[in-house]
Amino acid sequence: MSTKPFASSADLDAKQVSVEVLADGVYARTAEGDPNVGAVEGEDFVVCIEAMATPAAAREWLDVLRTYTDKPVRYLVLSHYHAVRTLGASAFDAREIVAHDNTRLLIEERGQQDWDSEYGRMPRLFTDPGSIPGLTHPTSTFSDELRIDLGGERGELVLQYCGRGHTEGDIVAWLPRERILFAGDLVESEAALYTGDAFHTDWAGPTLDRIAAYGAGQLVGGRGAVAKGNDQVASAIALTRRFLTVLLAEVSAVRDRAGTLKDAFEAAHAALVGDFGGWPIFEHCLPFDVSRAWDELSGVERPVIWTAERDREIWDQLQG
Ligand SMILES: [Zn+2]
Repeated sequence: MSTKPFASSADLDAKQVSVEVLADGVYARTAEGDPNVGAVEGEDFVVCIEAMATPAAAREWLDVLRTYTDKPVRYLVLSHYHAVRTLGASAFDAREIVAHDNTRLLIEERGQQDWDSEYGRMPRLFTDPGSIPGLTHPTSTFSDELRIDLGGERGELVLQYCGRGHTEGDIVAWLPRERILFAGDLVESEAALYTGDAFHTDWAGPTLDRIAAYGAGQLVGGRGAVAKGNDQVASAIALTRRFLTVLLAEVSAVRDRAGTLKDAFEAAHAALVGDFGGWPIFEHCLPFDVSRAWDELSGVERPVIWTAERDREIWDQLQG
């Protein structure tokens, strides 16, 4: 049995919430490393970005957003399929729920298992779990790009797929006029990376290259503070890439010398803890990250589905 509390199951203290206005009609809600959400005002509607873990949690966010604008939510954009970002969707009463084609498929394929897994790992995020009516199914999906005309003089919100990364179906939301990028979990800002469903090699290479190429002036990552200015944006992207690169190198080296998964975990932990150990959810994520990196390097093309049972097995094996 593990000596450390499982994943984030013992993380029960409420986090400090910050809602920031990044530009006229552009909002970001961050909370000390909890999953971030955002909103962009159109001329007569709102686009919300990410849904939170439950409708009850989402309503707390919407109550704050309603102090800025009472426009109806026309679009709810989901950056990827993970439960803590999708299961609150019903609270938004959105006309369209927009995501990548692969996100739709992943929710059908493994949405229920992911719900059970994430609830076990991060129970604090699931405010009133009984308020979840079921899985969230996107109503509108795309493969490469979808542009939302915000109306009036507000320009466009551009949703784009940048390649495989944190999952098989991550999208980003880009405001070209304001140079603001909502990057989802493809970039973390001083919060640990979860890579249990990831494609590390693509993510650390071409996918992050595409993210960097936006030249964003402000970047809202999946977790952590908003990166502001070119230096902070570049740093958030570079640190995300470094985490992935070091993780892959350590796991690969252990595999090459015929070590075990546990050896790979110890090596990755030793190499990463100095720079990343103080970031939220580092200890929580690392066993799952190493497990998937190991699989990817072994030629397992698509991530194995995490279930509540598999979560515990890997945890006890690596953090025990
Ligand atoms: Zn995620």
